[in-house]
Amino acid sequence: MQIDVPTLMLAGAFVFSFSGALLLVAWYQYRETRAALWWAGADAALACAIALMAIGSASHRTRLYLVGMTLLCVSAALTWAGARSFDGRRIQPGFLVAGSLVWIAVHALALSTIYASLVHTAIMVIYYAAGALTLQHGNGDARRARLPLVVLLSVHAMTLMIAIPATLTMNLVPNEPPPVLSWFGIIHFEAIVFVIGTSIFLVAMMKERSEGRHIEASWTDMLTGMLNRRGFLKQAERILDRCRHEAAPVAVIVFDLDRFKSINDRFGHAVGDSALQLYAGVCRKVLRPGDAIGRMGGEEFAVILPGTGVEAAFAMAERVRKAFAQAARVIEHHPVNATVSGGVAADDGDTDILGLLQHADIGLYDAKKRGRNRIAIVRPEQHLDAPNIVRIA
Ligand code: GH3
Ligand code: MG
Ligand code: MG
Repeated sequence: MQIDVPTLMLAGAFVFSFSGALLLVAWYQYRETRAALWWAGADAALACAIALMAIGSASHRTRLYLVGMTLLCVSAALTWAGARSFDGRRIQPGFLVAGSLVWIAVHALALSTIYASLVHTAIMVIYYAAGALTLQHGNGDARRARLPLVVLLSVHAMTLMIAIPATLTMNLVPNEPPPVLSWFGIIHFEAIVFVIGTSIFLVAMMKERSEGRHIEASWTDMLTGMLNRRGFLKQAERILDRCRHEAAPVAVIVFDLDRFKSINDRFGHAVGDSALQLYAGVCRKVLRPGDAIGRMGGEEFAVILPGTGVEAAFAMAERVRKAFAQAARVIEHHPVNATVSGGVAADDGDTDILGLLQHADIGLYDAKKRGRNRIAIVRPEQHLDAPNIVRIA
């Protein structure tokens, strides 16, 4: 079978258009990720560029060829923009158009073909390498599909860097297309692999991100933005395992807002909701980033504090209690004076997370019994009380 470079170029143009169309469909499905639009644009520019260059060189119309070269810069710039957009990073308009402007300027200066071609290559390599770096240092979500994408962009940048200068030193037969088994063939073949591969992995990243967001939503409480019961238990189990493995202390706190039903009754459900949100804000401020906090239901919350003994956990719970009492005096212009009670228990080495929360519940029960707006520590000798506790909230 005989295949020449112009045929490979036209096949490439078809593949690039098709891939761009697929990315549009993918964007329609996962609209939160605009990167697919940028990359669909990059594919369209690449398809036009390659088609114009193939027609231009076959019909000796230099102008068509040069427009094609400019579109190659546009395509590389759009690829870079897509990589930035995936992680929600700003796309500097100056950098976006700089490549094409430099190339047009180089052409206007009528530099020798070799110099002009080297500048053109450098422009594309910079955009693709910048795209690879952007994705590599991105947000960190969609990790599985991110690495192959970074590799494809890097390999593409490297291929252009090596192959294009190599074509400049080749002796071509005038008026004949370059041989397919040469650097020309390699460039066009690699471009097809690059475009198909990047489209597949971009769609994979979009899918991964979307699934990740669904999982996150299923673990998050909508009102407070905290973990919900399911999310908390999952994360707390992980923290507990890690602390036990490292022989580090760990403590849990359970909190329950005091007389919350009465707050709803006196000031309305909306004020009750605001109190819950206010409480979540106080916890976020007081607790450390490594601590996990979840809304276990209604006005009950649980916290797990890795690397923290029972006394330090008690001090932390006291800070939350005091800060909340202070912040919740007036809510939405109502004298709410909301408070919170809590129980603190330390890990005993062999109880699971639900068991530890039950231990802390003993303290909560005690705090409520002793008048509320207080925190009680539960000592190991009190653990036997746990099965007798009927949940009070
Ligand atoms: P205690 O001090 O003994 O804990 O008394 P309490 O009134 O806080 O406890 P109780 O369990 O009797 O009442 C909890 C109330 O919390 C009842 C329920 O209407 C309210 N509640 C549960 N979830 C929400 C919510 O999302 N928003 C609002 N506004 N209220 C809620
Ligand atoms: Mg309550
Ligand atoms: Mg309760």
